[in-house]
Amino acid sequence: MSELRILGVDEAGFCFGVRRALQLAKEATEKHPEVACLGPLIHNRQVVEDLERRGMRVVEDISEVRSHSAALVRAHGAGPTVYQAARDAQVELIDATCPFVRRVQQAAAQFAEEDYQVLVLGERDHPEAQAIVAHAGGRATIIESAAELEQIGITKRVAVVCQTTQRIDTLQELVSTLLPCVSELRVANTICDATSKRQKASVALAQQVDLMIVIGGYHSANTNRLAQICRATGTRTEHIETAAELRGEWLDEVEVVGITAGASTPPQAVEDVRTRLLELAGERVEDPSAPAT
Ligand code: SF4
Repeated sequence: MSELRILGVDEAGFCFGVRRALQLAKEATEKHPEVACLGPLIHNRQVVEDLERRGMRVVEDISEVRSHSAALVRAHGAGPTVYQAARDAQVELIDATCPFVRRVQQAAAQFAEEDYQVLVLGERDHPEAQAIVAHAGGRATIIESAAELEQIGITKRVAVVCQTTQRIDTLQELVSTLLPCVSELRVANTICDATSKRQKASVALAQQVDLMIVIGGYHSANTNRLAQICRATGTRTEHIETAAELRGEWLDEVEVVGITAGASTPPQAVEDVRTRLLELAGERVEDPSAPAT
């Protein structure tokens, strides 16, 4: 049986915004006897469960937070009504909105202020995209792809911002479809650098391996997108949340395995996957001491 090599990428796992949000969340649980998180802090079940053990409660809406207690806005951000409701109820708001997400909210608000028709390239059901629309005073439309333009009636002055996890080619397609239809087009490329770096490194790795393992929450938009673009290279790609999901038979006929992880995946989850792969590979491992990421 041939040897098995395990390769990783430098750009994997927690991004700046998620690390910052987690830090703020942990500090909040130490400082406040009662702290609520407005939705799961990140799309990673294991991390959310750990925070719950520290005393953080996940709520769906600010109305569920008791007056004079504390609540955390997650990295995806929240709309202005949430901030107002917190002030009204005298809830201390700890704002973990990622600064890059804040930049999108500000761009959308500015474009709406200048009376552009604002398009938010993003996922309709995603809280980040919805909060961006809210910051534009509701005067923005979420669009998932250029194909949807036909359904929404385009005016002559259009501005585009993107949910941070979007793909650059999706934005390029939207811009080139819009351009012939408008007299003025403003585009804020608000795709997060962390996301595009992860995507590029993961695609480059996927092109060199026989099997790609993408680690991260099933509800994490950026992890799902990583899995999607790795799969698009033609390399077999498995998306898992934890090491326990790895199957020995996936390694049959495989000589090189690549590992990558979404921006909300803790370093420990990546390490656990690498350890489990080494166990499953047994004697086939070429260099068990080689770093995976
Ligand atoms: S992926 Fe980028 S925008 Fe999103 S939380 Fe991380 S650093 Fe912020």
